[in-house]
Amino acid sequence: MNDEIRQLYEEVILDHNKNPRNFKKVPEETNHRASGDNPLCGDQYSIYLTVKDDVIQDVGFDGAGCAISKASTSLMLERVKGKNVAEAEKLFHQIHQLLTDDSKPHDHEIDLGKLEVLSGVKEFPMRVKCATLSWHIMNAALQGNQEAISTE
Ligand code: ZN
Repeated sequence: MNDEIRQLYEEVILDHNKNPRNFKKVPEETNHRASGDNPLCGDQYSIYLTVKDDVIQDVGFDGAGCAISKASTSLMLERVKGKNVAEAEKLFHQIHQLLTDDSKPHDHEIDLGKLEVLSGVKEFPMRVKCATLSWHIMNAALQGNQEAISTE
């Protein structure tokens, strides 16, 4: 990781941990929700999505966990709000590949923008599951999978 990414990583993680975006329930209109946890670290979140006409119109999350898990959730929801379901699913696969699989050339179909800083977590292999947890929860919510997700 170069110094620029490292610095950005620290700034973005700290910022989103301190002021998580969309840290709220969206109970009334939520039609997609899922929960999950990462027992290794104690991260536990529920994610709420309001999907209408194939577009993620509103997002929210609650729960608790470490700075990385919270920042990753906040960054993710900020990014997918207003996007269509197919794009959110593509983002999930791209982030998952970025963080967990270095063996294949990366799929750069979508410009990750700020989400690229999540790659900083690869320097701390124990924390990769903290960063990917909410992405799995969002994917489950989009698939209509109500079963609790666990990284174990
Ligand atoms: Zn964690």
